[in-house]
Amino acid sequence: MYELKTDAFFDSAHFLADYYGKCENLHGHRWRVEATIGVADGELGAEGTERDMVCDFGAFKKAVRELAEEFDHVFLVEEGTLHDATIAALEGEGFRLKMLPFRTTAENLARHLFERLSEAGLPVVQVEVDETPNNRAVYRP
Ligand SMILES: [Zn+2]
Repeated sequence: MYELKTDAFFDSAHFLADYYGKCENLHGHRWRVEATIGVADGELGAEGTERDMVCDFGAFKKAVRELAEEFDHVFLVEEGTLHDATIAALEGEGFRLKMLPFRTTAENLARHLFERLSEAGLPVVQVEVDETPNNRAVYRP
């Protein structure tokens, strides 16, 4: 097996609904995403730019960075956890919200980012999301 890894960062706010502790309050993280793509022995690119590569590193890095940018400097909100009036008030103030159909845990973000990279056609093997320098969630189907 051959693997390539690259990482990207995004800064965003979130809170965890139904959580009793510090994380129930609105707070921010510098999230780190590390994506791993891979192919089996004998499956490296056969010709052209990607001959003997898992994937063009430039294209891989660009895909991960662009995805991270989508999550950068926004308020990550699980759908259904804020009143409509609160959402309207925040948007009225010009804040950018990113509504997500899941609880905004590092675990779920890792799975979501995995799926997005996979949909982009990358042979994703694993996605890691660090919420802090000490805490990391790993998603591997
Ligand atoms: Zn948090």
